[in-house]
Amino acid sequence: EDSIHYRPTQAIVDLAAIRANVRNLKDYLGSETAVIAVVKADGYGHGEVEVAQAAFEAGAEMVSVATPDEAIRLRMAGISGDILVMGPSPLVFAEKAAELGIILTVSSAEWLQSALDVSEKFMQQLKIHVKIDSGMGRIGLRDEGALRSLMSVVNSTKQVLLDGIFTHFACADEENTENTEEQFIKFMRLVQTLSEKPRLVHASNSAASLLYPEYALDAVRFGIGLYGITPSEYVGGKLPFRLERSLRIESELAYVKLLEVGNRISYGGTYVTSSAEWIGTIPIGYADGLRRGLRGQEVLIDGERMPIIGTICMDQCMVKLPRELAVGEKVVLIGRQDKEEVTMEEWAERLGTIPYEIAVSIAKRVPRIYT
Ligand code: PLP
Repeated sequence: EDSIHYRPTQAIVDLAAIRANVRNLKDYLGSETAVIAVVKADGYGHGEVEVAQAAFEAGAEMVSVATPDEAIRLRMAGISGDILVMGPSPLVFAEKAAELGIILTVSSAEWLQSALDVSEKFMQQLKIHVKIDSGMGRIGLRDEGALRSLMSVVNSTKQVLLDGIFTHFACADEENTENTEEQFIKFMRLVQTLSEKPRLVHASNSAASLLYPEYALDAVRFGIGLYGITPSEYVGGKLPFRLERSLRIESELAYVKLLEVGNRISYGGTYVTSSAEWIGTIPIGYADGLRRGLRGQEVLIDGERMPIIGTICMDQCMVKLPRELAVGEKVVLIGRQDKEEVTMEEWAERLGTIPYEIAVSIAKRVPRIYT
């Protein structure tokens, strides 16, 4: 049976928190702005299908992913709402996308013309959102001439429906607003050259949705905030509403022992007990996403912080206990326990990265339990 797990290490996903984040965002932005829930990278590690379902239940109008395969998986799992592929697609995917009603991002006239050339007649109109590169420098049309060329391909066929146009901010999570303002102005200038406004004009990611409600337009693409994680420390200090955290990582003490002074712990023997010490072993390691650089990170047991000591192994790690604790005692690696909380932001800071990278690094091996 799939749902039985004998290892106590689990990621507990709170879908009610995800629904609350969607609802609160909708209340904040108002009914004119649609919410596109970003569920790429397996729903930032939370489970793409479950998160997409929860987002639609809470009133999201669309979900978006990065890749064609992610979109197909959602459709095949029974997600029937709008799905946007935000990243590039190969030409051969256009026909499949039209068949499955998957919306594609188009970044050049040549791509669209070639996709039409290599395809049989589409089963239904292919819906597209045009990507404008207003300063991110990744994919997208950069000027009016390029947009005009693309529009002439769109207008040359009944097989394509221009459903949206969008851009992506590079610096919306920073204190300095200049780059974001510049990008917005550049984007809107190009949008205004269209003879007809498409259904959805959108620009904002989570940071911009939260900090620049005046840029919300027809829709926002809400990713990291959906999961209750703040895009940056700066945004965290300026939240217009509370974000509910949606992921905990828990385990249990699997082994407990008392060591005399001078005993070594783990690979390399780099931790040596400096007195008699109680040592616990937790069945989680770097193959689960507990990166080796998290040595020294604290976990929560019995409402207290206790440090991971010695080298983190592939499947297990050791923790220094302040006293004897029982095998089977709950361990919280990410999440709250009584008054203490360990966040993905805390892990990210220790590792010199961003919480996004932590969320997507929780390994498949860790079962996701939905509550
Ligand atoms: N839009 C695009 C094009 C993206 O690539 C992403 C993800 O990076 C998002 C929106 C969502 O960003 P965030 O998770 O910061 O809300």
